Amino acid sequence: MAYEPLKGQKALVTGASSGIGAGVARALGTAGAAVVVNYGTNAQAAGQVMDEIKGTGAQAMAVGADVSKEDEVRAMFQEVCSAWGTIDILVNNAGLQRDAPFTEMTLEQWNGVLSVNLSGMFLCAREAAREMIRRGIRPEISRAAGKIICISSVHEVIPWAGHVNYAASKGGVKLLMQSLAQELAPHRIRVNSIAPGAIQTPINRAAWETPEALAKLLKLIPYGRIGVPEDIGRAAVWLASDDSDYVHGQTLFVDGGMTLYPEFARGG
Ligand code: NAD
Repeated sequence: MAYEPLKGQKALVTGASSGIGAGVARALGTAGAAVVVNYGTNAQAAGQVMDEIKGTGAQAMAVGADVSKEDEVRAMFQEVCSAWGTIDILVNNAGLQRDAPFTEMTLEQWNGVLSVNLSGMFLCAREAAREMIRRGIRPEISRAAGKIICISSVHEVIPWAGHVNYAASKGGVKLLMQSLAQELAPHRIRVNSIAPGAIQTPINRAAWETPEALAKLLKLIPYGRIGVPEDIGRAAVWLASDDSDYVHGQTLFVDGGMTLYPEFARGG
């Protein structure tokens, strides 16, 4: 029989029409959850992910909302809760890069990244926490009243020249997650992050689409391969399930060793 640790649970994954979000949404569906595939603009791609999840026998729906807009986030949670009754799992995944050398970075590039990568996580986590607190624990569903997982990045600890807006947003996610974990623990809401290393998705296409770029990237990955969305999907299933019930306020690095200072493997 299939192992379905999330059976009976309702999950919402932001930015799930592509890349890591799509991989996480599929994995949660396979683990037995009903999955909301949130998308910012690409309704067609979200519809495809939704259909794939439904094809495996799980429940799914696609809901559009810009996670940086308070009214759209509220409307999305209202829509989900009126359709499915509640929400048990939030995966805060939506994110973007707007890279520029620091002295040329515009306020628009700065605000654009912070508003999605950090404020978007705040807005979605707030709506999810309100609903999880309202509903409380249902022991037959999960030991926790809810699970919030933030998709951070190795750049919550590795500084990144040329990407200060992105690194600042992920550094912010680290303390957003930890502070939330501290505050929501009495409500039995578990809050954790996954920090991916290099995962093959549209966000970092330039880093893997040519053999030269890939070879350069692999020098930063001791384990010797680029990651795939399924690597993050499996970690998300574990963090969302009762198998990790005592894991709280942690960042799980899923990075093939990228945070191991790989250059020191060749002498320091
Ligand atoms: P991606 O570009 O494929 O996915 C990002 C998703 O976020 C897209 O579906 C996009 O439409 C959505 N999105 C962007 N702005 C949005 C908004 N305002 N509202 C709703 N959705 C919005 O890239 P990805 O690699 O899958 O990135 C997913 C997350 O993983 C991001 O938070 C990213 O920072 C993080 N991450 C990725 C990597 C990597 O190597 N790919 C590494 C570390 C962290």
